[in-house]
Amino acid sequence: MTGIYAQRMNANVVVLGTDNVGKSALTVRFLTRRFIGEYGDIESLYSHNVVVDGREQTLNIWDAPYSQSQDLFSESLMCEKRVQWADGFVLVYSICDRASFNAITRLIQTIKTSKDFLSFEKMPIVIVGNKRDLHHRRTVLSEEGRLLALSADCLFYEVSAAENYHSVLMVFHGLVNHIRESRVSVKRLAGIKGIVKSMSAVFARRRTDSL
Ligand code: GDP
Ligand code: MG
Repeated sequence: MTGIYAQRMNANVVVLGTDNVGKSALTVRFLTRRFIGEYGDIESLYSHNVVVDGREQTLNIWDAPYSQSQDLFSESLMCEKRVQWADGFVLVYSICDRASFNAITRLIQTIKTSKDFLSFEKMPIVIVGNKRDLHHRRTVLSEEGRLLALSADCLFYEVSAAENYHSVLMVFHGLVNHIRESRVSVKRLAGIKGIVKSMSAVFARRRTDSL
């Protein structure tokens, strides 16, 4: 195999969402397969090698605490920094916390306005409804999550970081595939642009030749 398929992909992934939704639990579950219960508030950057569909990938995962700084300017600067760094986004809410779900819409807006996506490009975003095991305390329906993902053209999963490793694995694998696809389409577009450029150069030369 040649080109993009043969290379080890290196991708930056940021995990975002309000406090207490399980961002750290989800990240640690993916990295170690374990759920340890309490995670503290530390900001962590992990580098992790995974094999997705037979291809090796290095994922740099930024588990970012929700910054509710008094200073709105430095808060938006921080958010902007994370968005620029990332190739893909895991946006987490808790199915028992309506406010955390509402925050996802705002995060998608921030990502859309801060990052230049090509119009045809699907954004490498996965929306995750966590704490599925607490269904008796559910305040956000699965359909609401699915609809939001559909309208924003993102992937959607409902998971329980506490109870299930496999669904968490699906989240990250889904995102990796998404990032890979968007890189291939950007490469293709660059190829098409190259052809258009050389064709216009030929036509421009013909025009000047005939003058
Ligand atoms: P973060 O602030 O978004 O990083 O959230 P944490 O990962 O620190 O988790 C916040 C709390 O929710 C902790 O007490 C976790 O044990 C708990 N938690 C995380 N994921 C789940 C889950 O899937 N189910 C349940 N029942 N609790 C969870
Ligand atoms: Mg955390």
